[in-house]
Amino acid sequence: MKMPQLRQTTLRTRFILGMGAMLLPVVVLAAGALFSLQSTIHALDNVVHEASEEIALVLRLQSLIQKATLLVHDYFIRGYGDPDERQRFLKASRNVDTVFEEAGAGPFSLAEERALFRSAREEWQRGRSLSEAILAIPHPVGNAAAARELGRLDAHMNRTIDLLDQVHTLAQQEMTEYLVLAHAVRRRALLVIGTVFVLGLGTALLVGRALTRSILLPLRVLEEGAERFGAGDLAHRVSLATWDELGHLGRTFNAMADKLAKSQAALEDLSIHDGLTGLYNYREFRRRLTEEVGRSRRYGRPFSLLILDIDNFKVINDTYGHLAGDEALRALAALIRQEVRPVDEAARYGGDEFAILLPETPGPGALTMAERVRGIIAGHTMTIAPGQAVNCTTSIGIATYPEDAESEEKLIGAADQALYAAKHAGRNQVRRSGKS
Ligand code: GH3
Ligand code: MG
Repeated sequence: MKMPQLRQTTLRTRFILGMGAMLLPVVVLAAGALFSLQSTIHALDNVVHEASEEIALVLRLQSLIQKATLLVHDYFIRGYGDPDERQRFLKASRNVDTVFEEAGAGPFSLAEERALFRSAREEWQRGRSLSEAILAIPHPVGNAAAARELGRLDAHMNRTIDLLDQVHTLAQQEMTEYLVLAHAVRRRALLVIGTVFVLGLGTALLVGRALTRSILLPLRVLEEGAERFGAGDLAHRVSLATWDELGHLGRTFNAMADKLAKSQAALEDLSIHDGLTGLYNYREFRRRLTEEVGRSRRYGRPFSLLILDIDNFKVINDTYGHLAGDEALRALAALIRQEVRPVDEAARYGGDEFAILLPETPGPGALTMAERVRGIIAGHTMTIAPGQAVNCTTSIGIATYPEDAESEEKLIGAADQALYAAKHAGRNQVRRSGKS
C-alpha cells in the first residue's frame, strides 16, 4: 500500500502528530465530562426552578385565602349582612378554587408535599362552606352562634395556612438540598475533569519527553554524524551512550568510519609512495619541490636538489636478473633513507634514479652530504639474492635554488646536467651544477 504523504513528513512531524493523536482522547474525555456536567447542572436548575414555582404557588394561595377570610371578618364587623360582602367573598373564594384547580395535585415532586397540599385544599373547602354559611346569617353581630362559627372558620383557615406553610417549608428544604447537591456535583465533576486532563497531559508530556530523548536526539546525532562524515570530516565519530538499536547503529557507524578512515589513509600513503622502494614517488617529489621553491621564495633561503643514478645498473639486471635488480634498488633506497636528515626528502625519481631535496642547504653543504652518500653506497656490499653480494656505485648531480636555477624545471635540468657531467667524468662521482 502506498502512503506518499506519510513518507514525505519528517520523523519529527510524525512524532508530533502521534503525540497529538494520543492527547486527543484526553481532550475529548474532558470536553464530554464538561458537557455532561452542564446537563446535570441544567437538570438541577430545573428542579430548583420547580421548587421556586411551588413556593410561589403556596404563597399566592396563602395570600388569597387570607384575603377571603378577611372578607368574612369584615362582614362580621359591619354586621349588616351586606350582600356585596357575600359577593366579594364568593369572588375571592372562586379565585382560591381556581388556583387549587389549576394546581391539581400540585407540581410537587414529593408525595408528602402532595398529601399536605390535598389536606390544605380539603381544609379550605371546609372553611369555604363554613364561610358561606356565616355569610348567610343576616345579622351576625351579637349572634353567639355566628361568633362560634367564625371561630371555627378561623381554625379551618389557620390549619389551611399552616398546611400550606408545611408545603412551603418542604419545597424550600427540597430546593436547598438540590442546590447543595448541585454545588457538590459541580465541585466533584470539575475536580475529576481537571485531574483527568492534568494526568493525561502530564503523561503525554512525559512520554513525549522520554521518546524525544531516546529517539529523536540520538537520531539527530546520527544524522549530524553522517552529514559531517559525508562532507569529508573523516575524523568525526558519533557519541551515543545507549545500548539500544540506535546505540548499535552509532557504534556500527563509528566502526565503519574507522575502517574508511584507515583505508583512506592507506590509499593516501600508496598514492605518494613508490611501491618498490617505499620512498616518495615522482608525483610527490614534484609536489614537494614546488612547496620547497615556494618556501625558499618566501623566506629567501636556499635549498639543494640531488639526483642520483646507479652506475651500470643494467649490468646487475643482466647478470643477476631483474628480481635481484629490484632487491638492489630496495637496499639502496634503505641506505639513502638512513643517511638523510629527517627534514630531507628522498624520492625515487624513476628507474635507477633517486632525488633528494635538502631544505635550507646551500651548494657546499649539499656537496658534503652527496659525497657522504656516494661514499657510503660505494662502500656497502648488498646481498641481492641468496649467496649473491654486489657492490654498487652512484653518480650524483647537485643544483641549488636559487643560485643555479630560478624555476623547478630549470633546477631539475641543472641537476641532470651535473649528473651527466659526473657520469662523463668516469662515474662514482659528485658534480655541482656550473662547477667543473
Ligand atoms: P649508467 O651508468 O649510464 O647509468 O648505466 P646504466 O646501466 O645504469 O644505464 P641506465 O641508468 O640508463 O639504465 C637504467 C636501467 O635500470 C635500465 C632498466 O632496465 C633498469 N631499471 C629501471 N627500473 C628498474 C626496476 O624497477 N627494476 C629493475 N630491476 N631494473 C630497472
Ligand atoms: Mg644508471
